[in-house]
This record gives sequence, C-alpha cells and structure tokens, in this order.
Amino acid sequence: MADSLQHKILLSEDEMPTRWYNVLHDVPTPPPPVLHPGTGQPVGPDDLSSLFPMDLILQEVATEQYVDIPAEVLDVYKLWRPSPLYRAHRLEKALGTPARIYYKYEGVSPAGSHKPNTAVPQAFYNAKAGIKKLTTETGAGQWGTALAFACAQYDLECEVWQVRASYDQKPYRRIMIETFGGTVHPSPSDLTEAGRTILAQDPGSSGSLGIAISEAVEVAAQDPATNYALGSVLNHVLLHQTIIGEEALLQLAKIGERVDLLVGCTGGGSNFGGLMFPFLREKWAGRMYPVVRAVEPAACPSLTQGTYAYDFGDTIGLTPLMKMHTLGHDFVPDPIHAGGLRYHGMSPLISHLYEEGHLEAVAKPQSECFAAGVLFARTEGIVPAPEPTHALAATIEEALHCKESGEEKVILTALCGHGHLDLPAYDAYLSGSIVDHGWEDADLQAAVRAALENLPTLV
Ligand SMILES: *Cc1c(COP(=O)(O)O)cnc(C)c1O
Repeated sequence: MADSLQHKILLSEDEMPTRWYNVLHDVPTPPPPVLHPGTGQPVGPDDLSSLFPMDLILQEVATEQYVDIPAEVLDVYKLWRPSPLYRAHRLEKALGTPARIYYKYEGVSPAGSHKPNTAVPQAFYNAKAGIKKLTTETGAGQWGTALAFACAQYDLECEVWQVRASYDQKPYRRIMIETFGGTVHPSPSDLTEAGRTILAQDPGSSGSLGIAISEAVEVAAQDPATNYALGSVLNHVLLHQTIIGEEALLQLAKIGERVDLLVGCTGGGSNFGGLMFPFLREKWAGRMYPVVRAVEPAACPSLTQGTYAYDFGDTIGLTPLMKMHTLGHDFVPDPIHAGGLRYHGMSPLISHLYEEGHLEAVAKPQSECFAAGVLFARTEGIVPAPEPTHALAATIEEALHCKESGEEKVILTALCGHGHLDLPAYDAYLSGSIVDHGWEDADLQAAVRAALENLPTLV
C-alpha cells in the first residue's frame, strides 16, 4: 500500500485573510500615470467619478500596503472561500516528473472562476455609495455572471451588454446571468448611441468587446444612479484578486513548501496578478525566490509581441489612456476558444512589472493548451476553463524539463476556472477541428504602430 497522499490543503473560514495586498506600496519604481485623452495630463479622481464610486477610485491610486476587506464582503466571500489548494499528485505521476505541482482552484466560486473576488467588492462599494445599477460588458459571459451574482448580494440592478456572437452561440452564461437577476442585451444594441451607430453601418454586426464596453460606459455616464464595472486590467481589480495569493501563501506554509515557479494565464492580468503579487512581496523581502511566468495565447500576444505604450482600454476610445503592453485598441484577435484571453492590452501594473524584469512571459498555441487541459481532466478530475489550460501547458512543459534534469522544482499554477460551460471548445479539440493562430512579428508591429499613431505619449 502506498502512503496516503495529501491532495487538498485547506484553510478554515477563520484562517481566511482579511486584507488585500496592494503591490503599489512595494513596487521598486512607480508605474506611469493614467492620462486624460483630451489633455494628455494625468487623470484625477473627478475624471472617473461619473463611472466609479470614490472608494474604488481611491483604491486605484492607493499606496498603503494593505486594504481591509469590508465585513460585508468577507461574509459573501465565505460562500466559497478560502478556496482549495491542491497537490496534483496524479498529474505528476502521469508525467513521471520529480517536480511537485500545486494548483490554486478558483472554480469553486458562484461563477466558476476568480471573477467574483472583485465583482463582490465592486458591487458592495457601489451600493454603499447609493448607486442603484451597474452596467458592464461581457464576452463569453464569465464576468457578466460574476457581476450579476454580486449585484444580487447588495440589491443592485445589473445590466450586461454581451457580444452578439456569444449571445447567439453560447446561451448558458446568458441564462446564468438572468438566473442571478441580471438583464442581458446583445451588443451592438439599439439602446445606445454607440450601438445604433454600429448597427447603421452594419445591421448584421456580430459585435466585439470594445463595442460592448462603449455601450455599457455610455449608459453609466448618463445616469447619476448608474455606474460601470470592469472585470480585469485596473489596479483595484488586481488588488481584490490578491486574496488568491494570500491564501496560497498560508496554505503552502502549512505544509512547509516553498515555491520555485509561479505560472498563470493572462488576459487582462487579474487572476495572475492576484496570485503572484503577494509572492512578489515575499521575494522583494528576501524570504523566497520564485520565478514568475505569465502565459498568453499565441493569437493575442500582448506581452510577448505587443508594444509598451499609451493606448485606450476600449476600441472606440472612450477610456483614459493607460501605459500597457498593447496590440492596438482596434486589434481583433482570431476567434480562439479562450475568450477571456482575447483582450488587446494588459494590466498597466503587470505591464510595468514585466518591463522592470519582475516576470517572464511566454505564448502558447491553443492546441497545446487543450492537450494539457485534457490530460489534467483525465488525471485530476477537473475540466479546466480554456484560459487556464495555457498555464497548465506551461506547467507541464516545466515539469517535463524537470523529468530530464531530475530537478525537484515546486510549481504553483492558478487554475482560475472550470470549463463546464466551455464544453463545445473541448468538443472541437477532441474532434480535431482546433486551429492554431499566430502572428508574423512584422505584420503585428505595423498594425500596432498604425493604431497608436497620434496618441499622446507623456512619459
Ligand atoms: C476572465 C477570465 C480570464 C482572463 O482574465 P484575467 O484578468 O487575465 O484573469 C482568465 N480565466 C478565466 C476563467 C476568466 O474568466
């Protein structure tokens, strides 16, 4: 008989961290400011107050090291947090690797991903400020689902513009949003100026995330009782996600394990930042030395092939300018299955840390990722969302290097969601109809240059 193996490392509710970690306190050099597109000057709190409540605006620029999580948010977090940390014994065995692989699993949340970690505090701070309704965009529907759930906790209305193509082809998350009490419109819609303009040009438009953002922002900006919420990219979103890394540090301490490599997938950077920021704090303090690796899709390679420059967060150009690794705000990635990773830019915080050499980045084609996802499902029993299969592909690659070298590396990866509503993507993979998309660097560079022409560059 083999010794019984410990698969799950759990925390009790009492052990759950009660503060978010603010990486801005410890970054060796401060990141460049966000700019007003009209003036080219740094934006102030008032520039953002038609869209966000003051608590979130202040968290966007806060420099204290920790922010207390409000009791009303901790109460909701406890519906699924602390989330489990798993040792992937069965995956290790299948790979024949001496590496020890751990994964922090966020699929236990109400939306099946990490997104409620920020949706809940965003809804809370808006309700506290007297706001009655939140608007947002959603692609495949992960963020819309999280926000609809969060709004239901604090009696807010939730109105979601969902990219038309997903609205028609992937009904299950729309139904989940409606079940949680949200309202969903296909985008472009005739409810907004932005939507009507697009529909006038192209009545059959299948929409895009950029158009959906424009619609949601337009509605929020016009009504003082309505605000807008974003599910990734911004500093306050990454702040809220640090509960993931803080829990993981406590869980690893329980078993006396120290991580050599952290791996996460990056769309806008929030699940990856949430896991790794607390580990970076420990690294900067000299208490551990993990290598930190971001994994992005080869079809949307903002870190590995993008340009570090000021750009808009949306396609139409309504948002402030953020300095980030970008493929250009008009970039339309190929329709890969990891919808959450199809964003033209990267969180300014992650971009800055990458530029300063605190993390590595690699890009993976989706066929390699689905192969990793299937192996993971067959060994560990969880069907991963298509997004974290990117992190799993890089994890498996490293574990196989360890097999050759005999190194007993400790790898921690972010399993940021399950794929129960993404089964058609697995169907496509299993039936051999997955296509890999990549970019010639020269073509990509020319397109990015064209998109960034005429934008201010303060720094
Ligand atoms: C939204 C989403 C992502 C991408 O967003 P990040 O901000 O990069 O984390 C990745 N995985 C899942 C499961 C998502 O829902």
